[in-house]
Amino acid sequence: MLKVENIQKTYGNLVAVNQLSFEVKDGEIFGLLGENGAGKTTTFRMIMGLLESDSGKILLDNKKIDYSITDKIGFVTEERSLLTKMTVKEQILYYGALKGMSEEKILQELKYWLNKFEIKKYENKKIKELSKGNQQKIQFISAVINHPKLLILDEPFTGLDPINVKLLKEAVYELKGEGCSIIFSSHQMEHIEEFCEKLIILVKGEVILEGYLKNIKKSYGIKKVVIKGENIDMTKIEKIESVEDIKNMNGEIIVHISDEKAVEKIFNVIKKCKILKFEALEPSLNEIFIEKVGNSHE
Ligand code: ATP
Repeated sequence: MLKVENIQKTYGNLVAVNQLSFEVKDGEIFGLLGENGAGKTTTFRMIMGLLESDSGKILLDNKKIDYSITDKIGFVTEERSLLTKMTVKEQILYYGALKGMSEEKILQELKYWLNKFEIKKYENKKIKELSKGNQQKIQFISAVINHPKLLILDEPFTGLDPINVKLLKEAVYELKGEGCSIIFSSHQMEHIEEFCEKLIILVKGEVILEGYLKNIKKSYGIKKVVIKGENIDMTKIEKIESVEDIKNMNGEIIVHISDEKAVEKIFNVIKKCKILKFEALEPSLNEIFIEKVGNSHE
């Protein structure tokens, strides 16, 4: 388990991360969200021991993170950190050896991951000859080759096609199943929404929202009703109290409401029509993010 307690980092007069605390349990996927410059990379660097915090504590399995346990942290970032003149095999042997693994074990793991990612044929190709997506897979393999206790994924899906995103997501779930704690950062909210049980939103180094995603969403309540059906009279829905906005988009009627009680009233108005779809929805993470982060702009 990763425990971050009141960490602080300043650059000159700028407070990049202010009194940040969170926990990521074994097998938990945690989302660290924020706009550009919010303090995510600074936080990752402090966790990996690349940057010293001004104050606070960072513990992995109750031990302070130092060089003896940084091997147990895997890191995948948007910027490729691969040695492009090496072949895939040379690269992974190099990273595996740095993490103290035997050659036999590295090759066994490499075979497993190359097969899983459907890139066995690239084993002896130079990294620079690989496509961006395949380089990203190699970076992932180098980060997880020794089954890390903590995996940090900083925008891992940027530039990947949907098939490769799916492969990488499955691999992340596999590590979660092994009890690895995973921190995930992305600007693509649909990935966070699908992936993270717990999250923090940072604005200028400050936490403005935190908790389990399902609880956060629940606290917002139902905000939208989506209806598909025949002969639905939108003017009747429009007149219901708490209906703020109604529009027809691609054959679906989207109703924004300010009070959950409107859901039943909407249903009563249309129940005699032929209804193909009736969904009452909590806000998406994207909507929550925009509301929270948007409000904090001065
Ligand atoms: P992005 O999404 O753009 O990667 P981020 O959330 O990772 O952003 P950080 O890179 O952690 O944000 O930066 C947090 C703040 O600290 C920013 O205002 C940034 O300009 C500042 N900062 C980061 N590194 C340094 C540094 N080495 N010296 C001075 N200021 C820095």
